[in-house]
Amino acid sequence: MGGSFDPVHIGHLVTAQESLERFELDIVVFMVTGTHPTKPKLTASPEHRLAMTRLATATNDSFEVSDWETRQREVTYTIDTMRHLHATYPADTVFFFITGSDAVFEILEWKDSAELAGLATFIGATRPGYHIEHAKQAHAEALQSFEVNYLEVPALAVSSTDIRARVQEKRSIRYLVGDDVAAYIYEHDLYRGGM
Ligand code: NAP
Repeated sequence: MGGSFDPVHIGHLVTAQESLERFELDIVVFMVTGTHPTKPKLTASPEHRLAMTRLATATNDSFEVSDWETRQREVTYTIDTMRHLHATYPADTVFFFITGSDAVFEILEWKDSAELAGLATFIGATRPGYHIEHAKQAHAEALQSFEVNYLEVPALAVSSTDIRARVQEKRSIRYLVGDDVAAYIYEHDLYRGGM
């Protein structure tokens, strides 16, 4: 499961749990983006985003967190991550790459996308109210070489952008992120200075 997780919230966790059950996965590995291909500066540092993701997932034995992307010195592209995972796990492992559907619709523009299409089945998580059929049609031609499943996740009404705005405006983020994550955000004074 790839994402900036800036910060990780209940929408991400429900997406992971839903994917686990719907696609009968053994584990979900949260792959925290290091240096993002298109967003040179995410709001919280890779170390903070990794620490919050670890806190959020700690009680679920089926969730793991990888620091592989955050340890890379250069921009991390999903193709490099998938190559790394294929080299790490047993040869017969079947991979799904879970992320937001907005991101999935752009995969054709990602580095080495033709190869990427063969390295994973994609799961695009959508928020309620998202016109998925319309979006699928609009991107049908572009995505024809990719295997993509879509998953509507009501809890994705929560977004990282909204959580950052709430912290900045001194509004509550209780129940939108886990208590541990909220405590971490306040302790480290994250997201107070802007979006
Ligand atoms: P993004 O563009 O910030 O997010 C797009 C939408 O998807 C947002 O609404 C976001 O909501 C949601 N989203 C993101 N990750 C999600 C997840 N794991 N589960 C459910 N919803 C999710 O996406 P991003 O986080 O920057 O990138 C997503 C993944 O694509 C990352 O792994 C990134 O490395 C990869 N990527 C690769 C390339 C490339 O290889 N060239 C280019 C771009 C992105 P929230 O803001 O609430 O999370």
